[in-house]
Amino acid sequence: MNPGSSACRAMTAALLRRRETAPLHEMSLCEGVLRILQEQARVQDYSRVLKVTLEIGELSCAVPESMELCFEAVTRGTLAEGATLEIVRTPGEAWCQDCQIAVPMKERISPCPHCGGFRMKVQSGDSMRVQQLEVD
Ligand SMILES: [Zn+2]
Repeated sequence: MNPGSSACRAMTAALLRRRETAPLHEMSLCEGVLRILQEQARVQDYSRVLKVTLEIGELSCAVPESMELCFEAVTRGTLAEGATLEIVRTPGEAWCQDCQIAVPMKERISPCPHCGGFRMKVQSGDSMRVQQLEVD
């Protein structure tokens, strides 16, 4: 564990206690997820969400632990209150412009494993999406 992520978690908890609409990254991501759930409830005609499987790329800035905290806070009093949040990490992939090949990427700042260069273009694993829903 690096000290940065635990500080971030502590901040998240503090913000949640104050119940402010803080410009917190994970908070707005979770609000986005809730909007999707509400839209889908109209389209697919369900009234309760039991489980949400969320795909989070390894290169996205969303911290899974913070997502869990925020999801619980954001869904309180909604159709997804008490729903289980399952997070699936998807691997990052980048295109090396020097080698002209796609390579796996663990962190955004990683160099190309073949040439050691940094002319990398992220191709996947930098986003988040709702993969699966269990509804009632
Ligand atoms: Zn390369």
